[in-house]
Amino acid sequence: MSKFFSEKYKNLTPYVPGEQPKEREYVKLNTNESPFPPSESAVRLASEVAKKLYLYPDPDCKELTQKVADTCGVDRDNVLMTNGSDEILNFAFMAFCDNNSPALFPDISYGFYKVFAQINNIPYEEIPLREDFSVCVDDYIGKKGTVFIANPNAPTGILLPLSEIERLVKADRERVVVIDEAYIDFGGESATTLVKKYDNLLVTQTFSKSRSMAGARLGFGVADSKIISDLVSIKYSTNPYNVNSMTACAGIGALLDKGYFEENCNKIIKNREWTIEKLKELGFISTPSKTNFVFVKNDKIGGEELYLKLKEKGVLVRHFSKERIKDYNRITIGSFEQMQMLIGAVKEILEELK
Ligand code: PMP
Repeated sequence: MSKFFSEKYKNLTPYVPGEQPKEREYVKLNTNESPFPPSESAVRLASEVAKKLYLYPDPDCKELTQKVADTCGVDRDNVLMTNGSDEILNFAFMAFCDNNSPALFPDISYGFYKVFAQINNIPYEEIPLREDFSVCVDDYIGKKGTVFIANPNAPTGILLPLSEIERLVKADRERVVVIDEAYIDFGGESATTLVKKYDNLLVTQTFSKSRSMAGARLGFGVADSKIISDLVSIKYSTNPYNVNSMTACAGIGALLDKGYFEENCNKIIKNREWTIEKLKELGFISTPSKTNFVFVKNDKIGGEELYLKLKEKGVLVRHFSKERIKDYNRITIGSFEQMQMLIGAVKEILEELK
């Protein structure tokens, strides 16, 4: 830390992204990326617009915003495009939280929520998940504050039904509820359908997972037009050109290719179910995941030990040292070949323990 670093950031603990090692080819199952390339139309439209990179992008992303609105069945002024969904989540902390409205989120969830609260100097409360790692919306009802819930949750993979989300949003119309749907396309029902009914709901989604565009950085929020206009104020006060032109065009291309998107989601779901089955045969227990990852543990081996042994064998998964989940590993669902390699490596490790 330099002597110039502002006092206000001295206690900041930055978010730690999953490893992106370059020293070796890993079977990379640690950051919930898609194993499939982006759609060909995404790549084509992005390369075409590369010739125009001397111009600033359209700060309103009009064409892409309209396409997202059409896909979600809302109007254009219900949508804001951002640099990954991380950006819109940060905007939401900035816009809707303060001393009068602290941030409320589960004790086990996306690690960035805490960092967004800290960097924006927002008080927050981490609400414990139930024993089985599920979110219980009653734990949030009657509590003052802006709610952030990942649905399905990460790293547990557990999905709340839409009726529970609606119950939460409806219970207090005087506060904003943010539903982070980064993984919704792998088996969940999106809350974007509730946006026309409730003006206190913000739903965020990303192109990073189901649309194979993690490297492009594209996310968005869907909400009542007044919520969106608050977020637009924040965007125009920080970075008006937050979505670059290649990414915006890639996004349009990805949305045009609905068949490819559905095919890939179905492959991931199929590979997930296969992987859970195989891991169960090897003595693992798994949460009921509706995402592109599984959250598993095996009493025969600790979470960290399995992570390290898999890494030695060239398979990278994610381990969290937090006490409550230290026995678990989060394993991204990749291609069928990758999952076969994972299972092969796990079998060898368990054999070696004998
Ligand atoms: N929410 C959750 C629950 C996530 O796991 C992630 C991915 N790390 C994000 C949001 C942010 O994803 P992105 O910024 O790539 O859209």
